[in-house]
Amino acid sequence: MIKVENLSKIYKNNNEEIYALKDINLQIKKGEIFGIIGLSGAGKSTLIRCLNRLEEPSNGKIFIDGSEITNIDNTSLRETRKEIGMIFQHFNLLSSKNVYKNIAFPLELKGLSKEEIDKRVNTLLKYVELEDKKLAYPSQLSGGQKQRVAIARSLANNPKILLSDEGTSALDPKTTKSILDLLDKIRKEFGLTIVLITHQMEVIKDICDRVAIIEDGRIIELSTVEEIFTNP
Ligand code: ADP
Ligand code: ADP
Repeated sequence: MIKVENLSKIYKNNNEEIYALKDINLQIKKGEIFGIIGLSGAGKSTLIRCLNRLEEPSNGKIFIDGSEITNIDNTSLRETRKEIGMIFQHFNLLSSKNVYKNIAFPLELKGLSKEEIDKRVNTLLKYVELEDKKLAYPSQLSGGQKQRVAIARSLANNPKILLSDEGTSALDPKTTKSILDLLDKIRKEFGLTIVLITHQMEVIKDICDRVAIIEDGRIIELSTVEEIFTNP
């Protein structure tokens, strides 16, 4: 599903070179929930941002379903991005738009008709159990509700892959659990591949199948979650 080959990312600041990722190799299977854990500054965000090409890799290749997504033109890149949904720690909702309009936004950009948008948005609202909040604005929602809206929005275009950048880090343990349960349901029902980065071991334990530990831009461990937690 996702294959990362010899991926490196070097940031250039004036004369300084920062090696954020060094020779990363990974294969993530379809329907898998793959966790990436590491300390702040380890390179987690850079890796996930390379996967949806918000960041240009310095070296190496990334394949999705066998197609290379590095070295492609902007049209193909836009198409590829539609197949990848993303959620963030701070939700990144549009504060001037209500819940309905936040979820409708990617569909409006795609140019769907009002009827098609309405059908899809209402299905998504039902799926994340927020039908009663459709006219509320983000400022009127709890953290968990905001993340549900963000998840609904990320699913609007029927992506194959969902990326979560610390998607539960701003939430309390109970709300975290409910969001993880929702992600697990999405994986089971839609067969989505989910890649999540976190600094919380509970998140890895709770829903991930496999985990990569990243330190200083390198993967230092890659194994199933059982192995990680049963190793002495
Ligand atoms: P993490 O998500 O694990 O906290 P990041 O991927 O954000 O780590 O950062 C990895 C390294 O790359 C850090 O040293 C960070 O300072 C550096 N870095 C991240 N983004 C940039 C950038 N846009 N310009 C320069 N350095 C960056
Ligand atoms: P615009 O013409 O600015 O795109 P719309 O006519 O689509 O706006 O919507 C106007 C308002 O009605 C918006 O605030 C939107 O949240 C709300 N709205 C539109 N469709 C629905 C719907 N099916 N259910 C609930 N609210 C809706």
